[in-house]
Amino acid sequence: MQIFKYPDIRQLPAILQRPLRDEESLERTVSTILQQVKSSGDEALRELTLRFDGVVVDSFKFPEDAWAAALDAVPQDLQAAIQQAAGNIRTFHAAQREQFTPLETMPGVRCWRKSVPIEKVGLYIPGGTAPLFSTVLMLGIPARLAGCRDIVLCTPPGPGGQINPAILYAAKVAGITSVYTLGGAQAIAAMAYGTQSIPRVHKLFGPGNRYVTAAKMLVQQEGLAIDMPAGPSEVLVFADDTCIPAFVASDLLAQAEHDTDSQVVLLTTSDRVLQEVLDEVAVQLWSLPRQKMLQAALSNSLAILLDSRETVLQAINWYAPEHLILACEDPDVLAEQVENAGSVFLGNFTPESAGDYASGTNHTLPTSGFARSYSGVSLDSFVKKITFQQISGQGLAALGPAIVTLASAEQLPAHASSVSLRLQHLAAAEGNPEAPIEPIADPGRLLRPNIRQLKPYSSARSEFKGSAPVMLDANENAADLHGDALNRYPDPLQTALKDKIAALKGLTPANVFLGNGSDEAIDLLFRLFCIPGEDEVITCPPTYGMYQVQADIHGTPVRQVPLDEQFDLRPEEILQASSARSKLLFLCSPNNPTANLLSAHKIEWLLRRFPGMVVIDEAYADYSGAPSWASRLAEFPNLVVLQTFSKAWALAGLRLGMAFAVPEVIGYFNKVKYPYNISTPAQRKLLQALEPERVALQVQDAVAERTRLSAALENLPGVQKVFPSQANFLLVRFGQAAEVFRYLRENGVIVRDRTREPGCSGCLRTTVGTAAENDRLLELLTKIKQD
Ligand code: PMP
Repeated sequence: MQIFKYPDIRQLPAILQRPLRDEESLERTVSTILQQVKSSGDEALRELTLRFDGVVVDSFKFPEDAWAAALDAVPQDLQAAIQQAAGNIRTFHAAQREQFTPLETMPGVRCWRKSVPIEKVGLYIPGGTAPLFSTVLMLGIPARLAGCRDIVLCTPPGPGGQINPAILYAAKVAGITSVYTLGGAQAIAAMAYGTQSIPRVHKLFGPGNRYVTAAKMLVQQEGLAIDMPAGPSEVLVFADDTCIPAFVASDLLAQAEHDTDSQVVLLTTSDRVLQEVLDEVAVQLWSLPRQKMLQAALSNSLAILLDSRETVLQAINWYAPEHLILACEDPDVLAEQVENAGSVFLGNFTPESAGDYASGTNHTLPTSGFARSYSGVSLDSFVKKITFQQISGQGLAALGPAIVTLASAEQLPAHASSVSLRLQHLAAAEGNPEAPIEPIADPGRLLRPNIRQLKPYSSARSEFKGSAPVMLDANENAADLHGDALNRYPDPLQTALKDKIAALKGLTPANVFLGNGSDEAIDLLFRLFCIPGEDEVITCPPTYGMYQVQADIHGTPVRQVPLDEQFDLRPEEILQASSARSKLLFLCSPNNPTANLLSAHKIEWLLRRFPGMVVIDEAYADYSGAPSWASRLAEFPNLVVLQTFSKAWALAGLRLGMAFAVPEVIGYFNKVKYPYNISTPAQRKLLQALEPERVALQVQDAVAERTRLSAALENLPGVQKVFPSQANFLLVRFGQAAEVFRYLRENGVIVRDRTREPGCSGCLRTTVGTAAENDRLLELLTKIKQD
């Protein structure tokens, strides 16, 4: 050993420099081996094994039927020792399992982390003269505990081509069954690239000679993960007057016996200890085998006398030893101050060998000063840690502005807008940002269970979808007595009509349900979604009375959330009133009887949050010019839009209404409707009457008439207010509504008394009739005072 006494502290780094090694020629040799394995697979492995190990190997995988005999060859006491060591290693590594509880970094910003095993790992276990079966335990046990699916173990053949049985025994104890007889750089290459018989892995572990280490570094450069860069094993012992020199000497020799280029360092603050340890080394060396190796290793090694514990600590942290033994007074105090070391052994009775084999800690540790930045192998080495986060609207509202500032300052505008877009959305939603902002994705979940299971009535005609020259399926009278083919049942699916309507509305036929008026659709919605007496619906009065009537028919309680003073929605109150039992929300826009459109942004906010189906009744939409919500079906599976042919289309007598929804929901409607709910004459008539241009022109006339009537009414003395209208009727507030209503009725004009509706005191509702009808109304209202 080279001895230094009280060197100048500035010289310490130079003294503690590790011996330099010629890696370049090694790298060339090894990369040739890697190439060979990459291109020729098993064939290269056979040739290299013959060249380097002098052994012919036919099949690399250790055969299943040879395990039992190999395990029997391991002496009982060694088996017991391996079992004991494995128990401690398992206990220590199992304790490293991380239980990460999700946490809120700020309100609404939830983050968490999960450990996920690396699927395929490769373990290299040196064999030959020193078969490191302890390494099998050190790598195999944490790999198993972590849950790695495929664990491949390669170990070189011994002189007779055999694997040391203790390696196999340790593999079995660790739970590894895929063992391959293969060593050196070629084993690393095989696991890195995969060959016909060796599976490719995602991370490589294990110590090895310089060739193995160089191969690991090279495959790492190609992108494969490795446990850590490895160099010759090393120990640094700090021994003061309290040490037992014979123990210290034995630890130094234990390390020196690993390899010729192992390095051992003794630091001491006692001249006596220095001398006694050196004497002990000489004595103990004499009785050990591997003399040559020990001599060579010791010649690399250092014994340094220093003046104080502080200087010792500096030297330790500078050198960053793989193993650090503190054979000194108060080792725990010093240990606390250690910043760079792979593994620390405290006190006279904690030899490095305990950690090498059996105490439980891992012996695969960073060498060559890498302990400054690397840790030894642990359970973490076999897992990836995936982070997760989920941010609520409220969370993003609070955090978003900071993200926008940061992204803008880094000049990454797309990053900034991915947040600001969401912030605008939240601002538009004007309300409770904590509510879920995803629409209900699966309306089937809301269905009544009996409807979900229902096997619907099915006619032959809907089963084969069409007609044939001979129809003998429905027991009709084959004779067309009236000459109009009404002896036959109508098309149950109204295929021709739906094609035309879908084209007209920019939808697909699968988005369309046709009913006996849109009232039928309202009825069916209750049948589909509301368990009588259990589920609820929400309405926003004053509104169309049929929602309440159908709820009463179906035994479904109604929660009423009245419109505000402007007859607009109160979205937050609606959400507060709703629960998992709220299956339907009826929104009428333009609303009957208030004649106004409901705010689109409030409707959208509700569509994103309401826990049930949102029904938007657009019976009067043709008079408003507003776009139909049907164009948003793709975004909202929970949306049902109702329209009718009874209003602008001037076909109230036909009884035809529509529901638009995603095909899944239309399928539910078809399941529960009467099979032939639209009569043949109605279907025929509608096919002829689908003339949108004509309707649009008439709507213009009706809107003009509405304007005239409204202006005329406003000028009448008894009229307090004519509410703006987007429909074909007007809501009018009178000073004496009851008398006006009675007077009109007595004079043959019927209007609707809405005075008892919320927010409608004194209000009568009148349809915009023909010019003559409206004139009659105006005439009577002018006369009323005089009579
Ligand atoms: N919805 C509203 C808002 C209505 O006012 C009406 C009828 N007055 C309907 C639906 C029913 O229309 P249909 O004739 O299509 O049944």
